[in-house]
Amino acid sequence: MTAIKEPSFRESVDLMFNRAVALMDLPPGLEEKIRVCNATYTVRFGVRLRGQIHTFTGYRSVHSEHMEPVKGGIRYAMGVNQDEVEALAALMTYKCALVEAPFGGSKGGLRIDPREWEEHELELITRRFAYELIKRDLINPAQNVPAPDMGTGEREMAWMADQYKRMNTTDINYRACVTGKPINAGGIQGRVEATGRGVQYALQEFFRHLEDVAATGLSGSLDGKRVVVQGLGNVGYHAAKFLQEEDGCVITGIIERDGALYNEAGLDVEAVHEWMQKHDTIKGFPDATHSAEGAAVLEADCDILIPAAMEGVINMQNAARIKAPLIIEAANGPVTAGADEVLREKGTVIIPDMYANAGGVTVSYFEWVKNLSHIRFGRMGRRQEEARHQLIVDELQRLDQHLGDAWVMSPGFKQKYLRGAGELELVRSGLDDTMRIAYQSMREVWHGRKDVTDLRTAAYLVSIAKVAASYRAMGL
Ligand code: NAD
Repeated sequence: MTAIKEPSFRESVDLMFNRAVALMDLPPGLEEKIRVCNATYTVRFGVRLRGQIHTFTGYRSVHSEHMEPVKGGIRYAMGVNQDEVEALAALMTYKCALVEAPFGGSKGGLRIDPREWEEHELELITRRFAYELIKRDLINPAQNVPAPDMGTGEREMAWMADQYKRMNTTDINYRACVTGKPINAGGIQGRVEATGRGVQYALQEFFRHLEDVAATGLSGSLDGKRVVVQGLGNVGYHAAKFLQEEDGCVITGIIERDGALYNEAGLDVEAVHEWMQKHDTIKGFPDATHSAEGAAVLEADCDILIPAAMEGVINMQNAARIKAPLIIEAANGPVTAGADEVLREKGTVIIPDMYANAGGVTVSYFEWVKNLSHIRFGRMGRRQEEARHQLIVDELQRLDQHLGDAWVMSPGFKQKYLRGAGELELVRSGLDDTMRIAYQSMREVWHGRKDVTDLRTAAYLVSIAKVAASYRAMGL
């Protein structure tokens, strides 16, 4: 078989950008200005570990500074390279514009397999990497605000924030220098689940529009839909768990790095996750068939496919065999530009990454605002809201007594209605609103323009127009 030439991840993003921009009427030169990555900083640093010096390579790429700070995660993986961080930084620009998070796009990465190092070693490495970035304002509450990505989480963010504080002892806003921190270090409720929760909200919004559901050949609600998910990490685990527990989806397949689990009757996401935490593998999980060829399960018959692990997994080699009529890109760049074309021709509907996984940056935005305002959301208004609700409940209770058996308050109403919204409820409400509005802005273009036949192009059109407007407002 002849090998198919697949574009690199960055080339793939550029190709998708070019498809969209060809439908726009931008002033000469602005298209190029938006597309290119402004700067990529590469650092090599040594850390003394296990009796010798180990040299690590890391990157922080800034794609667009039309708004500052710039924002984007830091990834720990062996595959990290300049092409990848630049592609991811570009996606961050478009993502932030689409969901109206007031940031430019950035991304970082460290070439490391975090599983090879002990926790105290990872702390030394992370602090040293952060030191290099902080020195150059590549971590800074006003200029560049990282967040977790593959291989990093709350723990790494707490180390980075602490490192920034040590180097900037008088910066009262130091906590806003990274997001995705633990609650006790300035984090926000609901950030860990945010990206997976956003995937759920995106699907809920998609299924509110019958015309869009019909475009996939599916019908009805999310209830009972058969879902295959790839990657049971932060994003995949939360998305699959919420879809199963709250929307009635049946998770028929889970693909991980060491193969896939399959059960047509449905897998218990929580149980699989627990098994993975305990055994460090999905192998041996009861009540499912395990196949060593994990990627083949991407091609399984299902209603919704959720790639939530890494880029390039649906490519020109396997695109024609993908059966799912609806793909939601929970990971960044899981479908290559070539595969995108094959799938579009087949009529597969793809909810694109820049929208589908924007829940993370949206709640990161809330966390950043919380850190800058130095107050938890809901602290001022919650009790006042409860007092006003109490007035209505008192009136209803009077009515209840007056009408006797003719009318009774529903069980649990009083308790539910009385409770003012805490931080978690407010975060979820803000995220839900963001995902609904962003989807509607995409679908308006998708259905409103004859020359736009897919959601990805629609998403690019919406976000590029916003970035272009910012540049024009700056006089460019
Ligand atoms: P993670 O490290 O928590 O999880 C990734 C999971 O994928 C792990 O369970 C890993 O074992 C699995 N995996 C790795 N290689 C695999 C393979 N070849 N086949 C199947 N599974 C494999 O990472 P994450 O934070 O969940 O990120 C996943 C994706 O979502 C990435 O593309 C990331 O850029 C994107 N994303 C993450 C966030 C966030 O908030 N964490 C936000 C937006 C986008």
